[in-house]
Amino acid sequence: MQPIELDKRPESCLIYGIANPCSIVVFGATGDLTTRKLAPALYNLYLQGVLPESSIIVGVARSEMSDDQFRMRIKEAVAGKDMSMWEKFAAALYYHSTQFDHSYSLSQLSERLKNLEKERNLGGDRVFYLAIPPSLYNVTVEMIGRSGLSRENFDGNGWARIVIEKPFGRDFKTAVELNKTLQKHFDESRIFRIDHYLAKETVQNVLMLRFANTIFEPLWNRMFIDHVQITAAESIGIESRAEYYEDSGILRDMFQNHMMQLLALTAMEPPSELQADYVRDERCKIFRSLRPFSAEDDFRNIILGQYGPGTIDGVGVRGYREEPGVSAASMTPTFATMKVFVENWRWNGVPFYLTSGKRLGEKLTEIVIHFRTVPHSMFRNALQESVTPNILTLGIYPDETVNLTFQINSPGSKICLRSVAMDFNYNEVYSLSNLDAYERLLLDCIQGDQMLFWRQDAVELCWSFLEPVLYHCESCLDMDKRLLTYDAGTWGPEINQL
Ligand code: NDP
Repeated sequence: MQPIELDKRPESCLIYGIANPCSIVVFGATGDLTTRKLAPALYNLYLQGVLPESSIIVGVARSEMSDDQFRMRIKEAVAGKDMSMWEKFAAALYYHSTQFDHSYSLSQLSERLKNLEKERNLGGDRVFYLAIPPSLYNVTVEMIGRSGLSRENFDGNGWARIVIEKPFGRDFKTAVELNKTLQKHFDESRIFRIDHYLAKETVQNVLMLRFANTIFEPLWNRMFIDHVQITAAESIGIESRAEYYEDSGILRDMFQNHMMQLLALTAMEPPSELQADYVRDERCKIFRSLRPFSAEDDFRNIILGQYGPGTIDGVGVRGYREEPGVSAASMTPTFATMKVFVENWRWNGVPFYLTSGKRLGEKLTEIVIHFRTVPHSMFRNALQESVTPNILTLGIYPDETVNLTFQINSPGSKICLRSVAMDFNYNEVYSLSNLDAYERLLLDCIQGDQMLFWRQDAVELCWSFLEPVLYHCESCLDMDKRLLTYDAGTWGPEINQL
């Protein structure tokens, strides 16, 4: 018999094509997000030739500065990259100063855009990216709408899309209000709500692993899976974002969005086709199936924590309440573990443990599937301990891995079961992706593909699920007892319930 060989056929790939030239207008062009993420992403797209040279990028913010000063800022933001395309890229950068305020108008920006597009022979396709504080979303969208910039087919052609960063509202009510403002000027097909977690290559690989292989799906249900753990841990604290974090806390910051998306990818049914709305429909079905938190559940299914002082990488770090800008009596949780249930045929009774926190032992994101123990152990008379169940770990960060543990008999012994692992590491097979999450999302937006973006019904479903939890956390009188302190650099509070 011939040894089995791996399939050597060429990979079957759908690759990103070159985008049509367009105008990208970044509101909040002097901010942290633009400097750290958007500018490097846009430059990389330019370097790779997927963002055509005739495209323009117009930065808009409050600070007064010239185009050249803006170019210098962006040059610093992309320092360290291949600068061979810099001069051409710099020539595509422009800056416009304005206040995002009802009493101001964007008519000058509108005129300037039209002139620049004429000069560059652009068709008028426009992306408006809101990289601004969430408190300014409504007013800025209104300004865009009032100035006519949201209108499509102006002067005969061109689309207009808007990109918005989380948080999508602070609760259900504000999410609905924000959406009302957005939909006054842009229909849903033109609204791109970003969750950069969804665009990470390895997060997408969860779908490929599940639905491009036959061996996992038959086991992917309550008959074979005991529980699922989804973890997104960070070792950093809140850095300089005290104002935002005090208002948000871990539940709004991580659970309303990223954790819910990881849960949906793990639990969703296969869509009939890999198309934006088919995939988004399946994600929504999971959100709709979540067992609601009830008053009786109270805190039984949730643990909240806040980091105290501790040590990270051998360096002492302060506790949350000592962070600049944080109240010394703050009750804001920086850690949460939630036990949630997806009430449908596939998952009934299987707990999903979602954990996320700041200042934990290390930065780590993973989905761990714990299978059930064997139904009957033929070793029960010989071995005192029961047989260790199989575990499938989908590592997302730092190691992009698939790891499956199983039992073997240790050599030399009569019976001695031991767990070993089959391990696959993406980095050993592929060099890292040539598109990072923001590059991918920007390109998807320019190409009109909404698969990796939040749809409004999903936003509302997740808020509906989370709101009772938030209500409990924010209104209970004995929060000081509920909020457990953990040392920075550990894995969170001691958990002996759940
Ligand atoms: P920053 O506070 O760093 O930047 C805010 C930007 O908005 C600046 O360019 C600022 O301009 C501009 N701005 C503020 N007020 C006004 C105003 N009244 N009129 C005109 N311009 C104004 O915020 P971030 O970049 O950190 O965040 C932007 C958005 O992205 C937020 O919604 C945030 O939640 C989201 N986000 C951020 C992430 C990050 O890593 N930073 C990650 C994920 C989401 P000026 O400097 O000229 O005052």
